[in-house]
Amino acid sequence: MAPLNRNPEAIAALIREAKTIAVCSHINPDGDTLGCAAAMRLALLRLGKDVSLFCDGKVPDQLSFLPGISEMRTPDADAEQYDLLLSVDVSDPKRLGACAALLEKSIHTAQIDHHPTNPLFMEANWVDGTAPAACLMIRKMLKVLRIGLDPELAVCLYTGISTDTGNFAFASTNAECFSVMSELMAHQLPLARLNRILFRDRSRPQILLINRALSSLQYYADGRIAVMKLTRRDFQECNALAEHADTVVNFGLDTVGTRMALLAREEADSEGKAGIIKFSLRAKEPDSVNDIAQEFGGGGHPQAAGITMNGTLDGTTGLVLDAMIHKLNG
Ligand code: 5GP
Ligand code: MN
Repeated sequence: MAPLNRNPEAIAALIREAKTIAVCSHINPDGDTLGCAAAMRLALLRLGKDVSLFCDGKVPDQLSFLPGISEMRTPDADAEQYDLLLSVDVSDPKRLGACAALLEKSIHTAQIDHHPTNPLFMEANWVDGTAPAACLMIRKMLKVLRIGLDPELAVCLYTGISTDTGNFAFASTNAECFSVMSELMAHQLPLARLNRILFRDRSRPQILLINRALSSLQYYADGRIAVMKLTRRDFQECNALAEHADTVVNFGLDTVGTRMALLAREEADSEGKAGIIKFSLRAKEPDSVNDIAQEFGGGGHPQAAGITMNGTLDGTTGLVLDAMIHKLNG
């Protein structure tokens, strides 16, 4: 089948035909991909489907309130066959991680995603690069599947919409976010409670890690670029996990006069030697960083992108920093 785009109907047809469905989230899962997965699980259960949730990576403790999310598991090498694999918010096949094993085994494959860089790697691809959150696309999918909202679905959808829009603050925030929010509020959305969990509460490891990141903060290009680095040792000494580094990059970006920010962190136990380095890149409008990310095999959105690279923390950071300086001096 030729790849289909901008079309929820084709995916709805595959869902209706399937009995067993694997829903996959992306690696380093965030509120949007997990909100989508939790919402699709509820919807598919209501349609009488046999649903399994998969993700290569641990669900952040902060998001453990999502209904059914404790069912999320990492697929093993001898994964079973599913009638349909549905990935949600997965911008490219690499971000499936170990879920790629399911891709080969499933009879049909489909995806719902909102990354403009998505290479349409499934059989049915509903990709809308203009959607502020994949959870907004799930709202539309529920309509196509004729599934009404309920308080549990409201919690799932709010999680993705609010986190991917920076709590309704990013330039991507549009009127649709607020019309869907109005629907969610009409379904008893516990707004204040979720707002505290998602945007206010920080664990102690997170606070300690922020301290380390701020200590590493350096400015370049007359303060237009902010760079922070976290070593494996920082994580160990703060008793912190990768998920605790989420949003830390914003401290750099929030500096007055700063236009782009990066946070580089060591993923594996490499102790200053070459290893996997994960970059979070951010920009203030009208600057963008997804083009810089793509230069290094990464991707994402114009103002929030990421890269996963092999090398040393200092070496790879130098390369990405040079690309940022080059772009600003463009
Ligand atoms: P974050 O910095 O929060 O990890 O990611 C920001 C954005 O960049 C997200 O939309 C995410 O999908 C994308 N992203 C993060 N890391 C990578 C990566 O290694 N490769 C690609 N292609 N995209 C990434
Ligand atoms: Mn998303």
